Amino acid sequence: MSGPEALSPESPSPESPSPGSPRGDAPAHIPCIEVVELLTDYLEGALDEELQRRVEAHLELCPPCVVFLDQLRSTINSIEQLPIETLPDNTVDALEEAFRSFHSGDRH
Ligand SMILES: [Zn+2]
Repeated sequence: MSGPEALSPESPSPESPSPGSPRGDAPAHIPCIEVVELLTDYLEGALDEELQRRVEAHLELCPPCVVFLDQLRSTINSIEQLPIETLPDNTVDALEEAFRSFHSGDRH
């Protein structure tokens, strides 16, 4: 025979003691994947100042993204006949995939 489990109804206390965790939006860090998407615009100089600064700040802390930027740059150079705007989505996709693989494999 199993003892009856008394489920006490949890009453939400009006004064919930919240630990000091400020949940404001901290726009300091943008995730790599977002940086990657911004890099074409970044190279184009199409980002607004704040966004550009954030990308640069990220690049300072994230060598893999710098490598990615390098690759992107040389990719763009190799198709320099075309303006960056016409960069095919495939290219960006392929780069993103390459980026992911070298970003997750952190070994040398
Ligand atoms: Zn990054």
